[in-house]
Amino acid sequence: MLQTRQLMDNLYCFEDGHVRQFLITAPDKALLLDAGYADSHLREAVQAVTDAPVQLLLTHGDPDHAGGMADFPEVWLHQADWPLVKNQAGLHPLQEGDLFACGDYLLEVIEVPGHTHGSVAFADREKRLLFVGDTVQKGGPIYQFGTHRSLREYLRSLYKLQGMANQFDTLFPCHYDCPIGPEYIEHTLQDALSLWGNQLPSTDTPDKPCRTYQGRWTAFYCTEEDRQR
Ligand SMILES: [Zn+2]
Repeated sequence: MLQTRQLMDNLYCFEDGHVRQFLITAPDKALLLDAGYADSHLREAVQAVTDAPVQLLLTHGDPDHAGGMADFPEVWLHQADWPLVKNQAGLHPLQEGDLFACGDYLLEVIEVPGHTHGSVAFADREKRLLFVGDTVQKGGPIYQFGTHRSLREYLRSLYKLQGMANQFDTLFPCHYDCPIGPEYIEHTLQDALSLWGNQLPSTDTPDKPCRTYQGRWTAFYCTEEDRQR
């Protein structure tokens, strides 16, 4: 069951206790960031807020973010993540610098590969907001295991976000606490660097083929093999 929460004027999120989606509304259109799981019934939750036509922008192609995309007619996803979704017919490609306007929001695509090769964040520079997908989290664990992820790319993307961190006041992650402050870019980077350097304590993960690496501010699902990827 999805819970709907209003975050700011014309900005809502939907949450099922594991993952969240964001909705920006205007009289003539709406922007939906992520689609949730295939069975999350997000469309009904969106329609309870707005009957305007919806453009769906995906932060990445993992099933908890893209699973419900078939319920929406217009879907945008970075091409590097197209292999992760079942139906690629009619998909629109996202890339660095693409702009999406909705009411007084203006979202700019920032490529942040690593969590997946096609991960993106959406920045509203005027409002100083950053929708970070799964790239920055407070608490975690962040999924960083499997062949469609790269810790090396992920570190480069966190350095990229660190370089623009002073342009933002508020971060909206898809998992765990939301909103969080921009200092979590630096915190996540420091923990990811410790993961890369094999300095984080780890424990077995029940029900998942990976270990849980515990950082100071967040955690990662990863394996020894994935650490080198
Ligand atoms: Zn996720």
